[in-house]
Amino acid sequence: MGRASRDKRDIYYRKAKEEGWRARSAFKLLQIDEEFNILEGVKRVVDLCAAPGSWSQVLSRKLYLQPKLSTDSKDSDLPLIVAIDLQPMAPIEGVIQVQGDITNARTAEVVIRHFDGCKADLVVCDGAPDVTGLHDMDEFVQSQLILAGLTIVTHILKEGGKFIAKIFRGKDTSLLYCQLKLFFTDVTFAKPKSSRNSSIEAFAVCENYSPPEGFNERDLHRLLEKVGSPSGVDDLDCSSEWLEGPNKVYIPFLACGDLSGYDSDRSYPLPKTAEGTYQSLDPVQPPIAPPYKRALEMKKASSQGIRDFEQLS
Ligand code: SAM
Repeated sequence: MGRASRDKRDIYYRKAKEEGWRARSAFKLLQIDEEFNILEGVKRVVDLCAAPGSWSQVLSRKLYLQPKLSTDSKDSDLPLIVAIDLQPMAPIEGVIQVQGDITNARTAEVVIRHFDGCKADLVVCDGAPDVTGLHDMDEFVQSQLILAGLTIVTHILKEGGKFIAKIFRGKDTSLLYCQLKLFFTDVTFAKPKSSRNSSIEAFAVCENYSPPEGFNERDLHRLLEKVGSPSGVDDLDCSSEWLEGPNKVYIPFLACGDLSGYDSDRSYPLPKTAEGTYQSLDPVQPPIAPPYKRALEMKKASSQGIRDFEQLS
């Protein structure tokens, strides 16, 4: 799809470039914040799976740059924002970057060290594996990322803190809800307006972190395995008498963002400008070392080879 055509077909892609966001995902976090006020009072935050960095930009603008501009703010008021991804990311003011795999215990330790014994108010995770199109497989790999996120959460989130995680809605959504409910008193699955209706993506908004009494972070895996077994369900108290089966629950599911605003599945005409035609903007910050870089280089080299061959023959 050409850039102008994508500008027309994807309003959030176009708006992201106009407003200086590195990715359209920025609107998802902004719309979740509009609904749930997740950024209020946040001083320490971790952005898991952060590249190319639009969520980190939101955190930087809202928590770092805006307070910094206020005349009566002191350096000690500025927040600690730590961002992690497998991919390197161009710098963002006020954001500490860690390159690593969140499913690896070492990466988790590096993040924890940055907090120097202090606890975070918020952990966000927009992690996504390379989607295969096989929903069961994608949902499973996604759940591994959520589990990794939750493991980090149990080490660094303060009691009462919040965790936002991208999920793929599928047949195990109720189980995931029950697992999250073990740690948070309020769990809602949210679908921001900027997330396409055609996509199975949604976001778990987990509020008020309160791990089970006597919980030891190291027991996380054992505890999660218990969910789904008859004894686990009794502990969870998440079944209801008019439903059958251990994991069937009503999940609070909330649409957020301006519901009469842009529809991310619709095409919009490009706006008229003084010059006549709309000038499509370059992406704000393309990835600096994307995994597909080598493939692009090979494609370029092979088309050059074909051109050379055609000129010779
Ligand atoms: N929130 C980001 C933003 O607003 O720019 C977009 C995140 S993008 C949808 C998903 C990211 O998850 C990718 O950058 C990918 O590298 C990262 N990711 C996937 N698996 C990961 C893992 N195991 N550890 C760290 N990052 C991972």
